[in-house]
Amino acid sequence: MKFWSFFALKLAAVGGAAQATRWALHQALPVPDSVTVWNHDPFTHDLGWTFAMLGWGLFCAGLLWLAVLDQRYRCRTCLRRLKMPVSNGRWDRAFLFEPPKTEYICVYGHGTMKVPEVQIAGREEAAWDRHDDMWRELEELSSGSRR
Ligand SMILES: [Zn+2]
Repeated sequence: MKFWSFFALKLAAVGGAAQATRWALHQALPVPDSVTVWNHDPFTHDLGWTFAMLGWGLFCAGLLWLAVLDQRYRCRTCLRRLKMPVSNGRWDRAFLFEPPKTEYICVYGHGTMKVPEVQIAGREEAAWDRHDDMWRELEELSSGSRR
């Protein structure tokens, strides 16, 4: 729940930034008289305005893409950025046995995310594996009580 609430908050910030830049664009670019006479919106009636709105649309799409990309590489529990990327798998055995992946971990041990490097059999989503207590598991492995 915390993860999605943070994402909704981030989307609201992106929407606010989009509206602020649109307002700034309206303040910076004068509307030509040929458009104001007919009380039309300058978008699609003036070439300069149309290109400005095209650039604004690309800017907003970029902001949205950055928000989604940032959210993808966050811990699902504590919302910190995932760290320590480690490459696994082999490119010479990528088809069947060991497809290359990059694993990211939460430094507080909440989980790991495996991001596939190749998309052989269609789109493969990143897999999030939650750990109950990764440090306790490591201590058990090092003490030899767990096989
Ligand atoms: Zn975490």
